[in-house]
Amino acid sequence: MSAILSTIPSAGIDSHVGVAPAISISGVNKFYGGFHALRDINLEIESKKIVVICGPSGSGKSTLIRCINHLEQHDSGQIHVNGLELTRRAADVEKVRRQLGMVFQSFNLFPHMTVLDNCTFALKLALGTPAKAAEGIARAYLEKVNVLEQAGKYPMQLSGGQQQRVAIARALCLEPRIMLFDEPTSALDPESVGAVLRIMESLAASGITMVCVTHEMGFARRVADRCVFMEKGEIVEHAPAERFFTSPKSERLKAFLDQVL
Ligand code: ADP
Ligand code: MG
Repeated sequence: MSAILSTIPSAGIDSHVGVAPAISISGVNKFYGGFHALRDINLEIESKKIVVICGPSGSGKSTLIRCINHLEQHDSGQIHVNGLELTRRAADVEKVRRQLGMVFQSFNLFPHMTVLDNCTFALKLALGTPAKAAEGIARAYLEKVNVLEQAGKYPMQLSGGQQQRVAIARALCLEPRIMLFDEPTSALDPESVGAVLRIMESLAASGITMVCVTHEMGFARRVADRCVFMEKGEIVEHAPAERFFTSPKSERLKAFLDQVL
């Protein structure tokens, strides 16, 4: 399994990669009605780095990650993905989304489509990939996450861990430069957690940029380059992974780590 995903192709779209950071968030604020969900967020993520975001429930982690692919709109500030600014223009959103794959806590597979169709659907729709080629790509990624034998089944017929691995394969089919994970293992039984984390670990080693909201601190310590701690809509601490765990600066992060470690 260690060799899986070692061959994520580098997408050919952007000549600016290597110059701009993969993700640049500057002065971002987000409100839900009168509720201030993100407060002046500044964060730069370098290409090919693995960043883990953690923090208590309700601290704005999902909101932040959802703003990066415009599932939520930020109200002020700028978000750039590989040098492309995420504005409200549909064409810009489309260009940015093309760079991103997203995996959710709740899998979000299409229930009425087989595993294979879940994977080929976006390829055919978004990229216009011919059916036969799409199937070949889908099968290759399903094999890489060890669920190829489930290709003809419907999501409901799979375990949570299998569904999540399908969701990862589906995202990878579009060959994103950046993967966003929002608590991908929180809904899984302990055995499935390990299988999904191993896939993510292998993916991390493949040279993709990853932003993971997770409370799997073992994973964070092993895999993350940098860790971010959020509370009440703010980034409280952001540090290289080693320093984050061994010498947290803020009392709030110390207390959080005491709880989760
Ligand atoms: P986390 O992922 O860290 O648990 P979220 O980003 O989901 O936090 O939520 C941050 C805060 O914003 C929470 O107080 C939550 O209740 C609120 N919130 C999230 N989504 C919405 C929404 N669609 N409408 C109103 N409030 C929301
Ligand atoms: Mg969340």
